[in-house]
Amino acid sequence: MNCGTCTECCKSSQGLFLHPEQGDAVESYRHTSAFNQEGNPVYLLETTPVGACVYLGETGCTIYERRPLLCRTFDCRKHYMILPRQDRDNLVRLGLSSRAVFNAGRSRVKTLSDEERAECAQTREEFFS
Ligand code: SF4
Ligand code: SF4
Repeated sequence: MNCGTCTECCKSSQGLFLHPEQGDAVESYRHTSAFNQEGNPVYLLETTPVGACVYLGETGCTIYERRPLLCRTFDCRKHYMILPRQDRDNLVRLGLSSRAVFNAGRSRVKTLSDEERAECAQTREEFFS
């Protein structure tokens, strides 16, 4: 999606996960690692003490041409539309998403096409009803 000047995803202390199984070259990024509940390793972009991505510069992403999958594909409008309110609240509470990102998505929902909205509604129906 066209984010314009918004950088909420990059500075909002949400989980900036890397996806090596889908092509992210983990070692090429400054990152941290941990283990999930299943004992498998997970990798996240390193963040500053205030929770921003270390690659966020004054005018935006400093590695834009090689930004990882999540940064290339995440769409806050769909994130907002697909998740029920309780799940959004839980993700914020767990530090896996941010209120600012959900607010950004809500304010941009009108820019989704009718087809995209229908897809979001169908996904929400499949996973959350
Ligand atoms: S919150 Fe939305 S508009 Fe802002 S950077 Fe993230 S995806 Fe882009
Ligand atoms: S790599 Fe770039 S686009 Fe991705 S979170 Fe960091 S600053 Fe934002």
